[in-house]
Amino acid sequence: MANKVIGIDLGTTNSCVAIVEDGTPVVIPNRGGYKTTPSMVAMAENGKRLVGHIAKRQAITNAENTVYAAKRLIGRKWGSAAVRSSVESMPYQIVGGPHSDVRIMLRDQVFSIPELSAYILQEMKIITEEYLGEDISQVVITVPAYFNDGQRQATKDAGMVAGLDVIRIINEPTAAALAYGFGRNMERKVAVYDLGGGTFDISILEIGNNVFEVISTAGDTFLGGEDFDRRIIDWVVSEFKREHNIDLRKDRMALQRIKDVAEKAKCELSSVKEVEINLPFIISTGRNEALHVQSKLTREMLEELAGDLVERTLEICAQALAEADFEKSDLEEVILVGGMTRMPMVQKAVADFFGFAPCKGVHPDEVVALGAAIQGTALTEDNCEVLLLDVTPHSLGIMIVGGYFHRLIDRNTTVPTSESHAFTTVKDFQTSVKILVLQGENDRAEENELLGEFVLTGLRSANRGEVEVDVEFSISADGIVSVIARDSETGLEQSITVTATSGLTEDEIRDMINANEDHMVDVRTTGEFDKLKHEAETLLRDIDSLFPKVQQIISGSDFGQDAVSKARSVCDRARDAIDAKNIDELTECTEALGRTSNMFRGVVSKTTTD
Ligand code: AMP
Repeated sequence: MANKVIGIDLGTTNSCVAIVEDGTPVVIPNRGGYKTTPSMVAMAENGKRLVGHIAKRQAITNAENTVYAAKRLIGRKWGSAAVRSSVESMPYQIVGGPHSDVRIMLRDQVFSIPELSAYILQEMKIITEEYLGEDISQVVITVPAYFNDGQRQATKDAGMVAGLDVIRIINEPTAAALAYGFGRNMERKVAVYDLGGGTFDISILEIGNNVFEVISTAGDTFLGGEDFDRRIIDWVVSEFKREHNIDLRKDRMALQRIKDVAEKAKCELSSVKEVEINLPFIISTGRNEALHVQSKLTREMLEELAGDLVERTLEICAQALAEADFEKSDLEEVILVGGMTRMPMVQKAVADFFGFAPCKGVHPDEVVALGAAIQGTALTEDNCEVLLLDVTPHSLGIMIVGGYFHRLIDRNTTVPTSESHAFTTVKDFQTSVKILVLQGENDRAEENELLGEFVLTGLRSANRGEVEVDVEFSISADGIVSVIARDSETGLEQSITVTATSGLTEDEIRDMINANEDHMVDVRTTGEFDKLKHEAETLLRDIDSLFPKVQQIISGSDFGQDAVSKARSVCDRARDAIDAKNIDELTECTEALGRTSNMFRGVVSKTTTD
């Protein structure tokens, strides 16, 4: 019988769901038969919420209302460097929230990041329920090992908004190691190198007798495939500027089209040595003439453009090894996880760094969800003897007088853990004390991440130094922090789960859960084919209306004529797929229609307005 706990890998680019069936972990395919689902959410013109493949298909034509890579923003503070960089580069509008958090505006409606992530989790829940034919509620969700408390808490909130009971948050590389070692009765020291769409993690583990013990972890939550794509985008834009003296960055639609081909080119270059980057009608000169992107990108050029990113991952690997007090030669296996590890340069760099070829035995897109499902089973079934010992990636402490950071729990300490410390008052007759809870490695408190703050009041009025306050910090197995502060003399206590300063309030979460439940009724009534057909028909109407004008603009251009005849053939294929009710073919055609409609609209609107 199927186990009811599901494991979800909530990825930056794609998400994946797995369960353990009859003792074997398996990935659940979505309705289209794909084992991963794009982590994308969009708001259509008619106000409908679109999630997964359907959101991805219309991304180019609806760029400003389509969210991708939201995981790069989850649990982050408005104004932080990572958020600033996203504000500049993302086609959707990122705005500040009421708790110095980050929100996204889609068609005049503002959404929190946990809310948008909840829609993806919910899609994964629906995929599972349709597969199993029964309701599920319990879930283990994975996060990058290097996520801090705020990012973990926000991920848990997303699970709640999706109507899920998040029984555990586990680290992605740890989940991968679990799936790798599960049922193999091995004793081995391994490294998990995890380079996904948005984040990089490296974890060093010892596996033995079904105990998976993480020794150290290190990472960068803003280093992943998105950055490789950006290097290609920058290259295309600067080449175009050099040739035509036009800045494509000013055109959101053009930029989204470049992003789309950049990612495709990057993936193709993992198997071929050279790709063509062709984008007909990227922009108009305003003289009834369209310009195209026509470039050639080689694997060698890509390696040059993105070499420093790979180099950075190796520096982090060296840091994790040093923290574990391991030599490279102590390791017996390196497991590659994350879509980016398909890049030959990454594989070679890892092999050169560790001195041996990485393991090819795991599927980089699926292994994390499989590990999450195994952990779910281990937590709920008595006969599953797997023990996971993970560590906290960041040191934890509080701010003390002078603005210094007082460390209570060091990074790479096994969790769950707790530590207490006695602090004394610093002023005469001080009756309250404010505790600022921080995570990070810097001796200056302000350089670290502020997780939250609370005030302990009602202390005995006495001379400075006479009143003692005991502060006990705990980190759960989820990596989430809670604090208890106690007046040692009176025993007066305040128990606080540190609410991330950039998080959601309980009321907000409740409102989102309610709003989401109403929406679910709506979503379940519409079938996948009907949604797709509607989308394709809208695009076909759009393209038909633009054909005459486009014909006029491209007359005399062979490249343009070729693009138009390809567009005609895609339209014909889409109409046939609708008639034949062929969902796979229609899925593919709708993506191509989206690109065509966007290309046509771009050139026509430019020509009209210029
Ligand atoms: P993940 O977060 O593990 O789903 O990884 C997604 C990232 O892997 C995205 O940036 C993809 O563009 C990238 N990716 C997927 N397949 C390939 C490939 N064949 N070559 C290079 N990168 C890839």
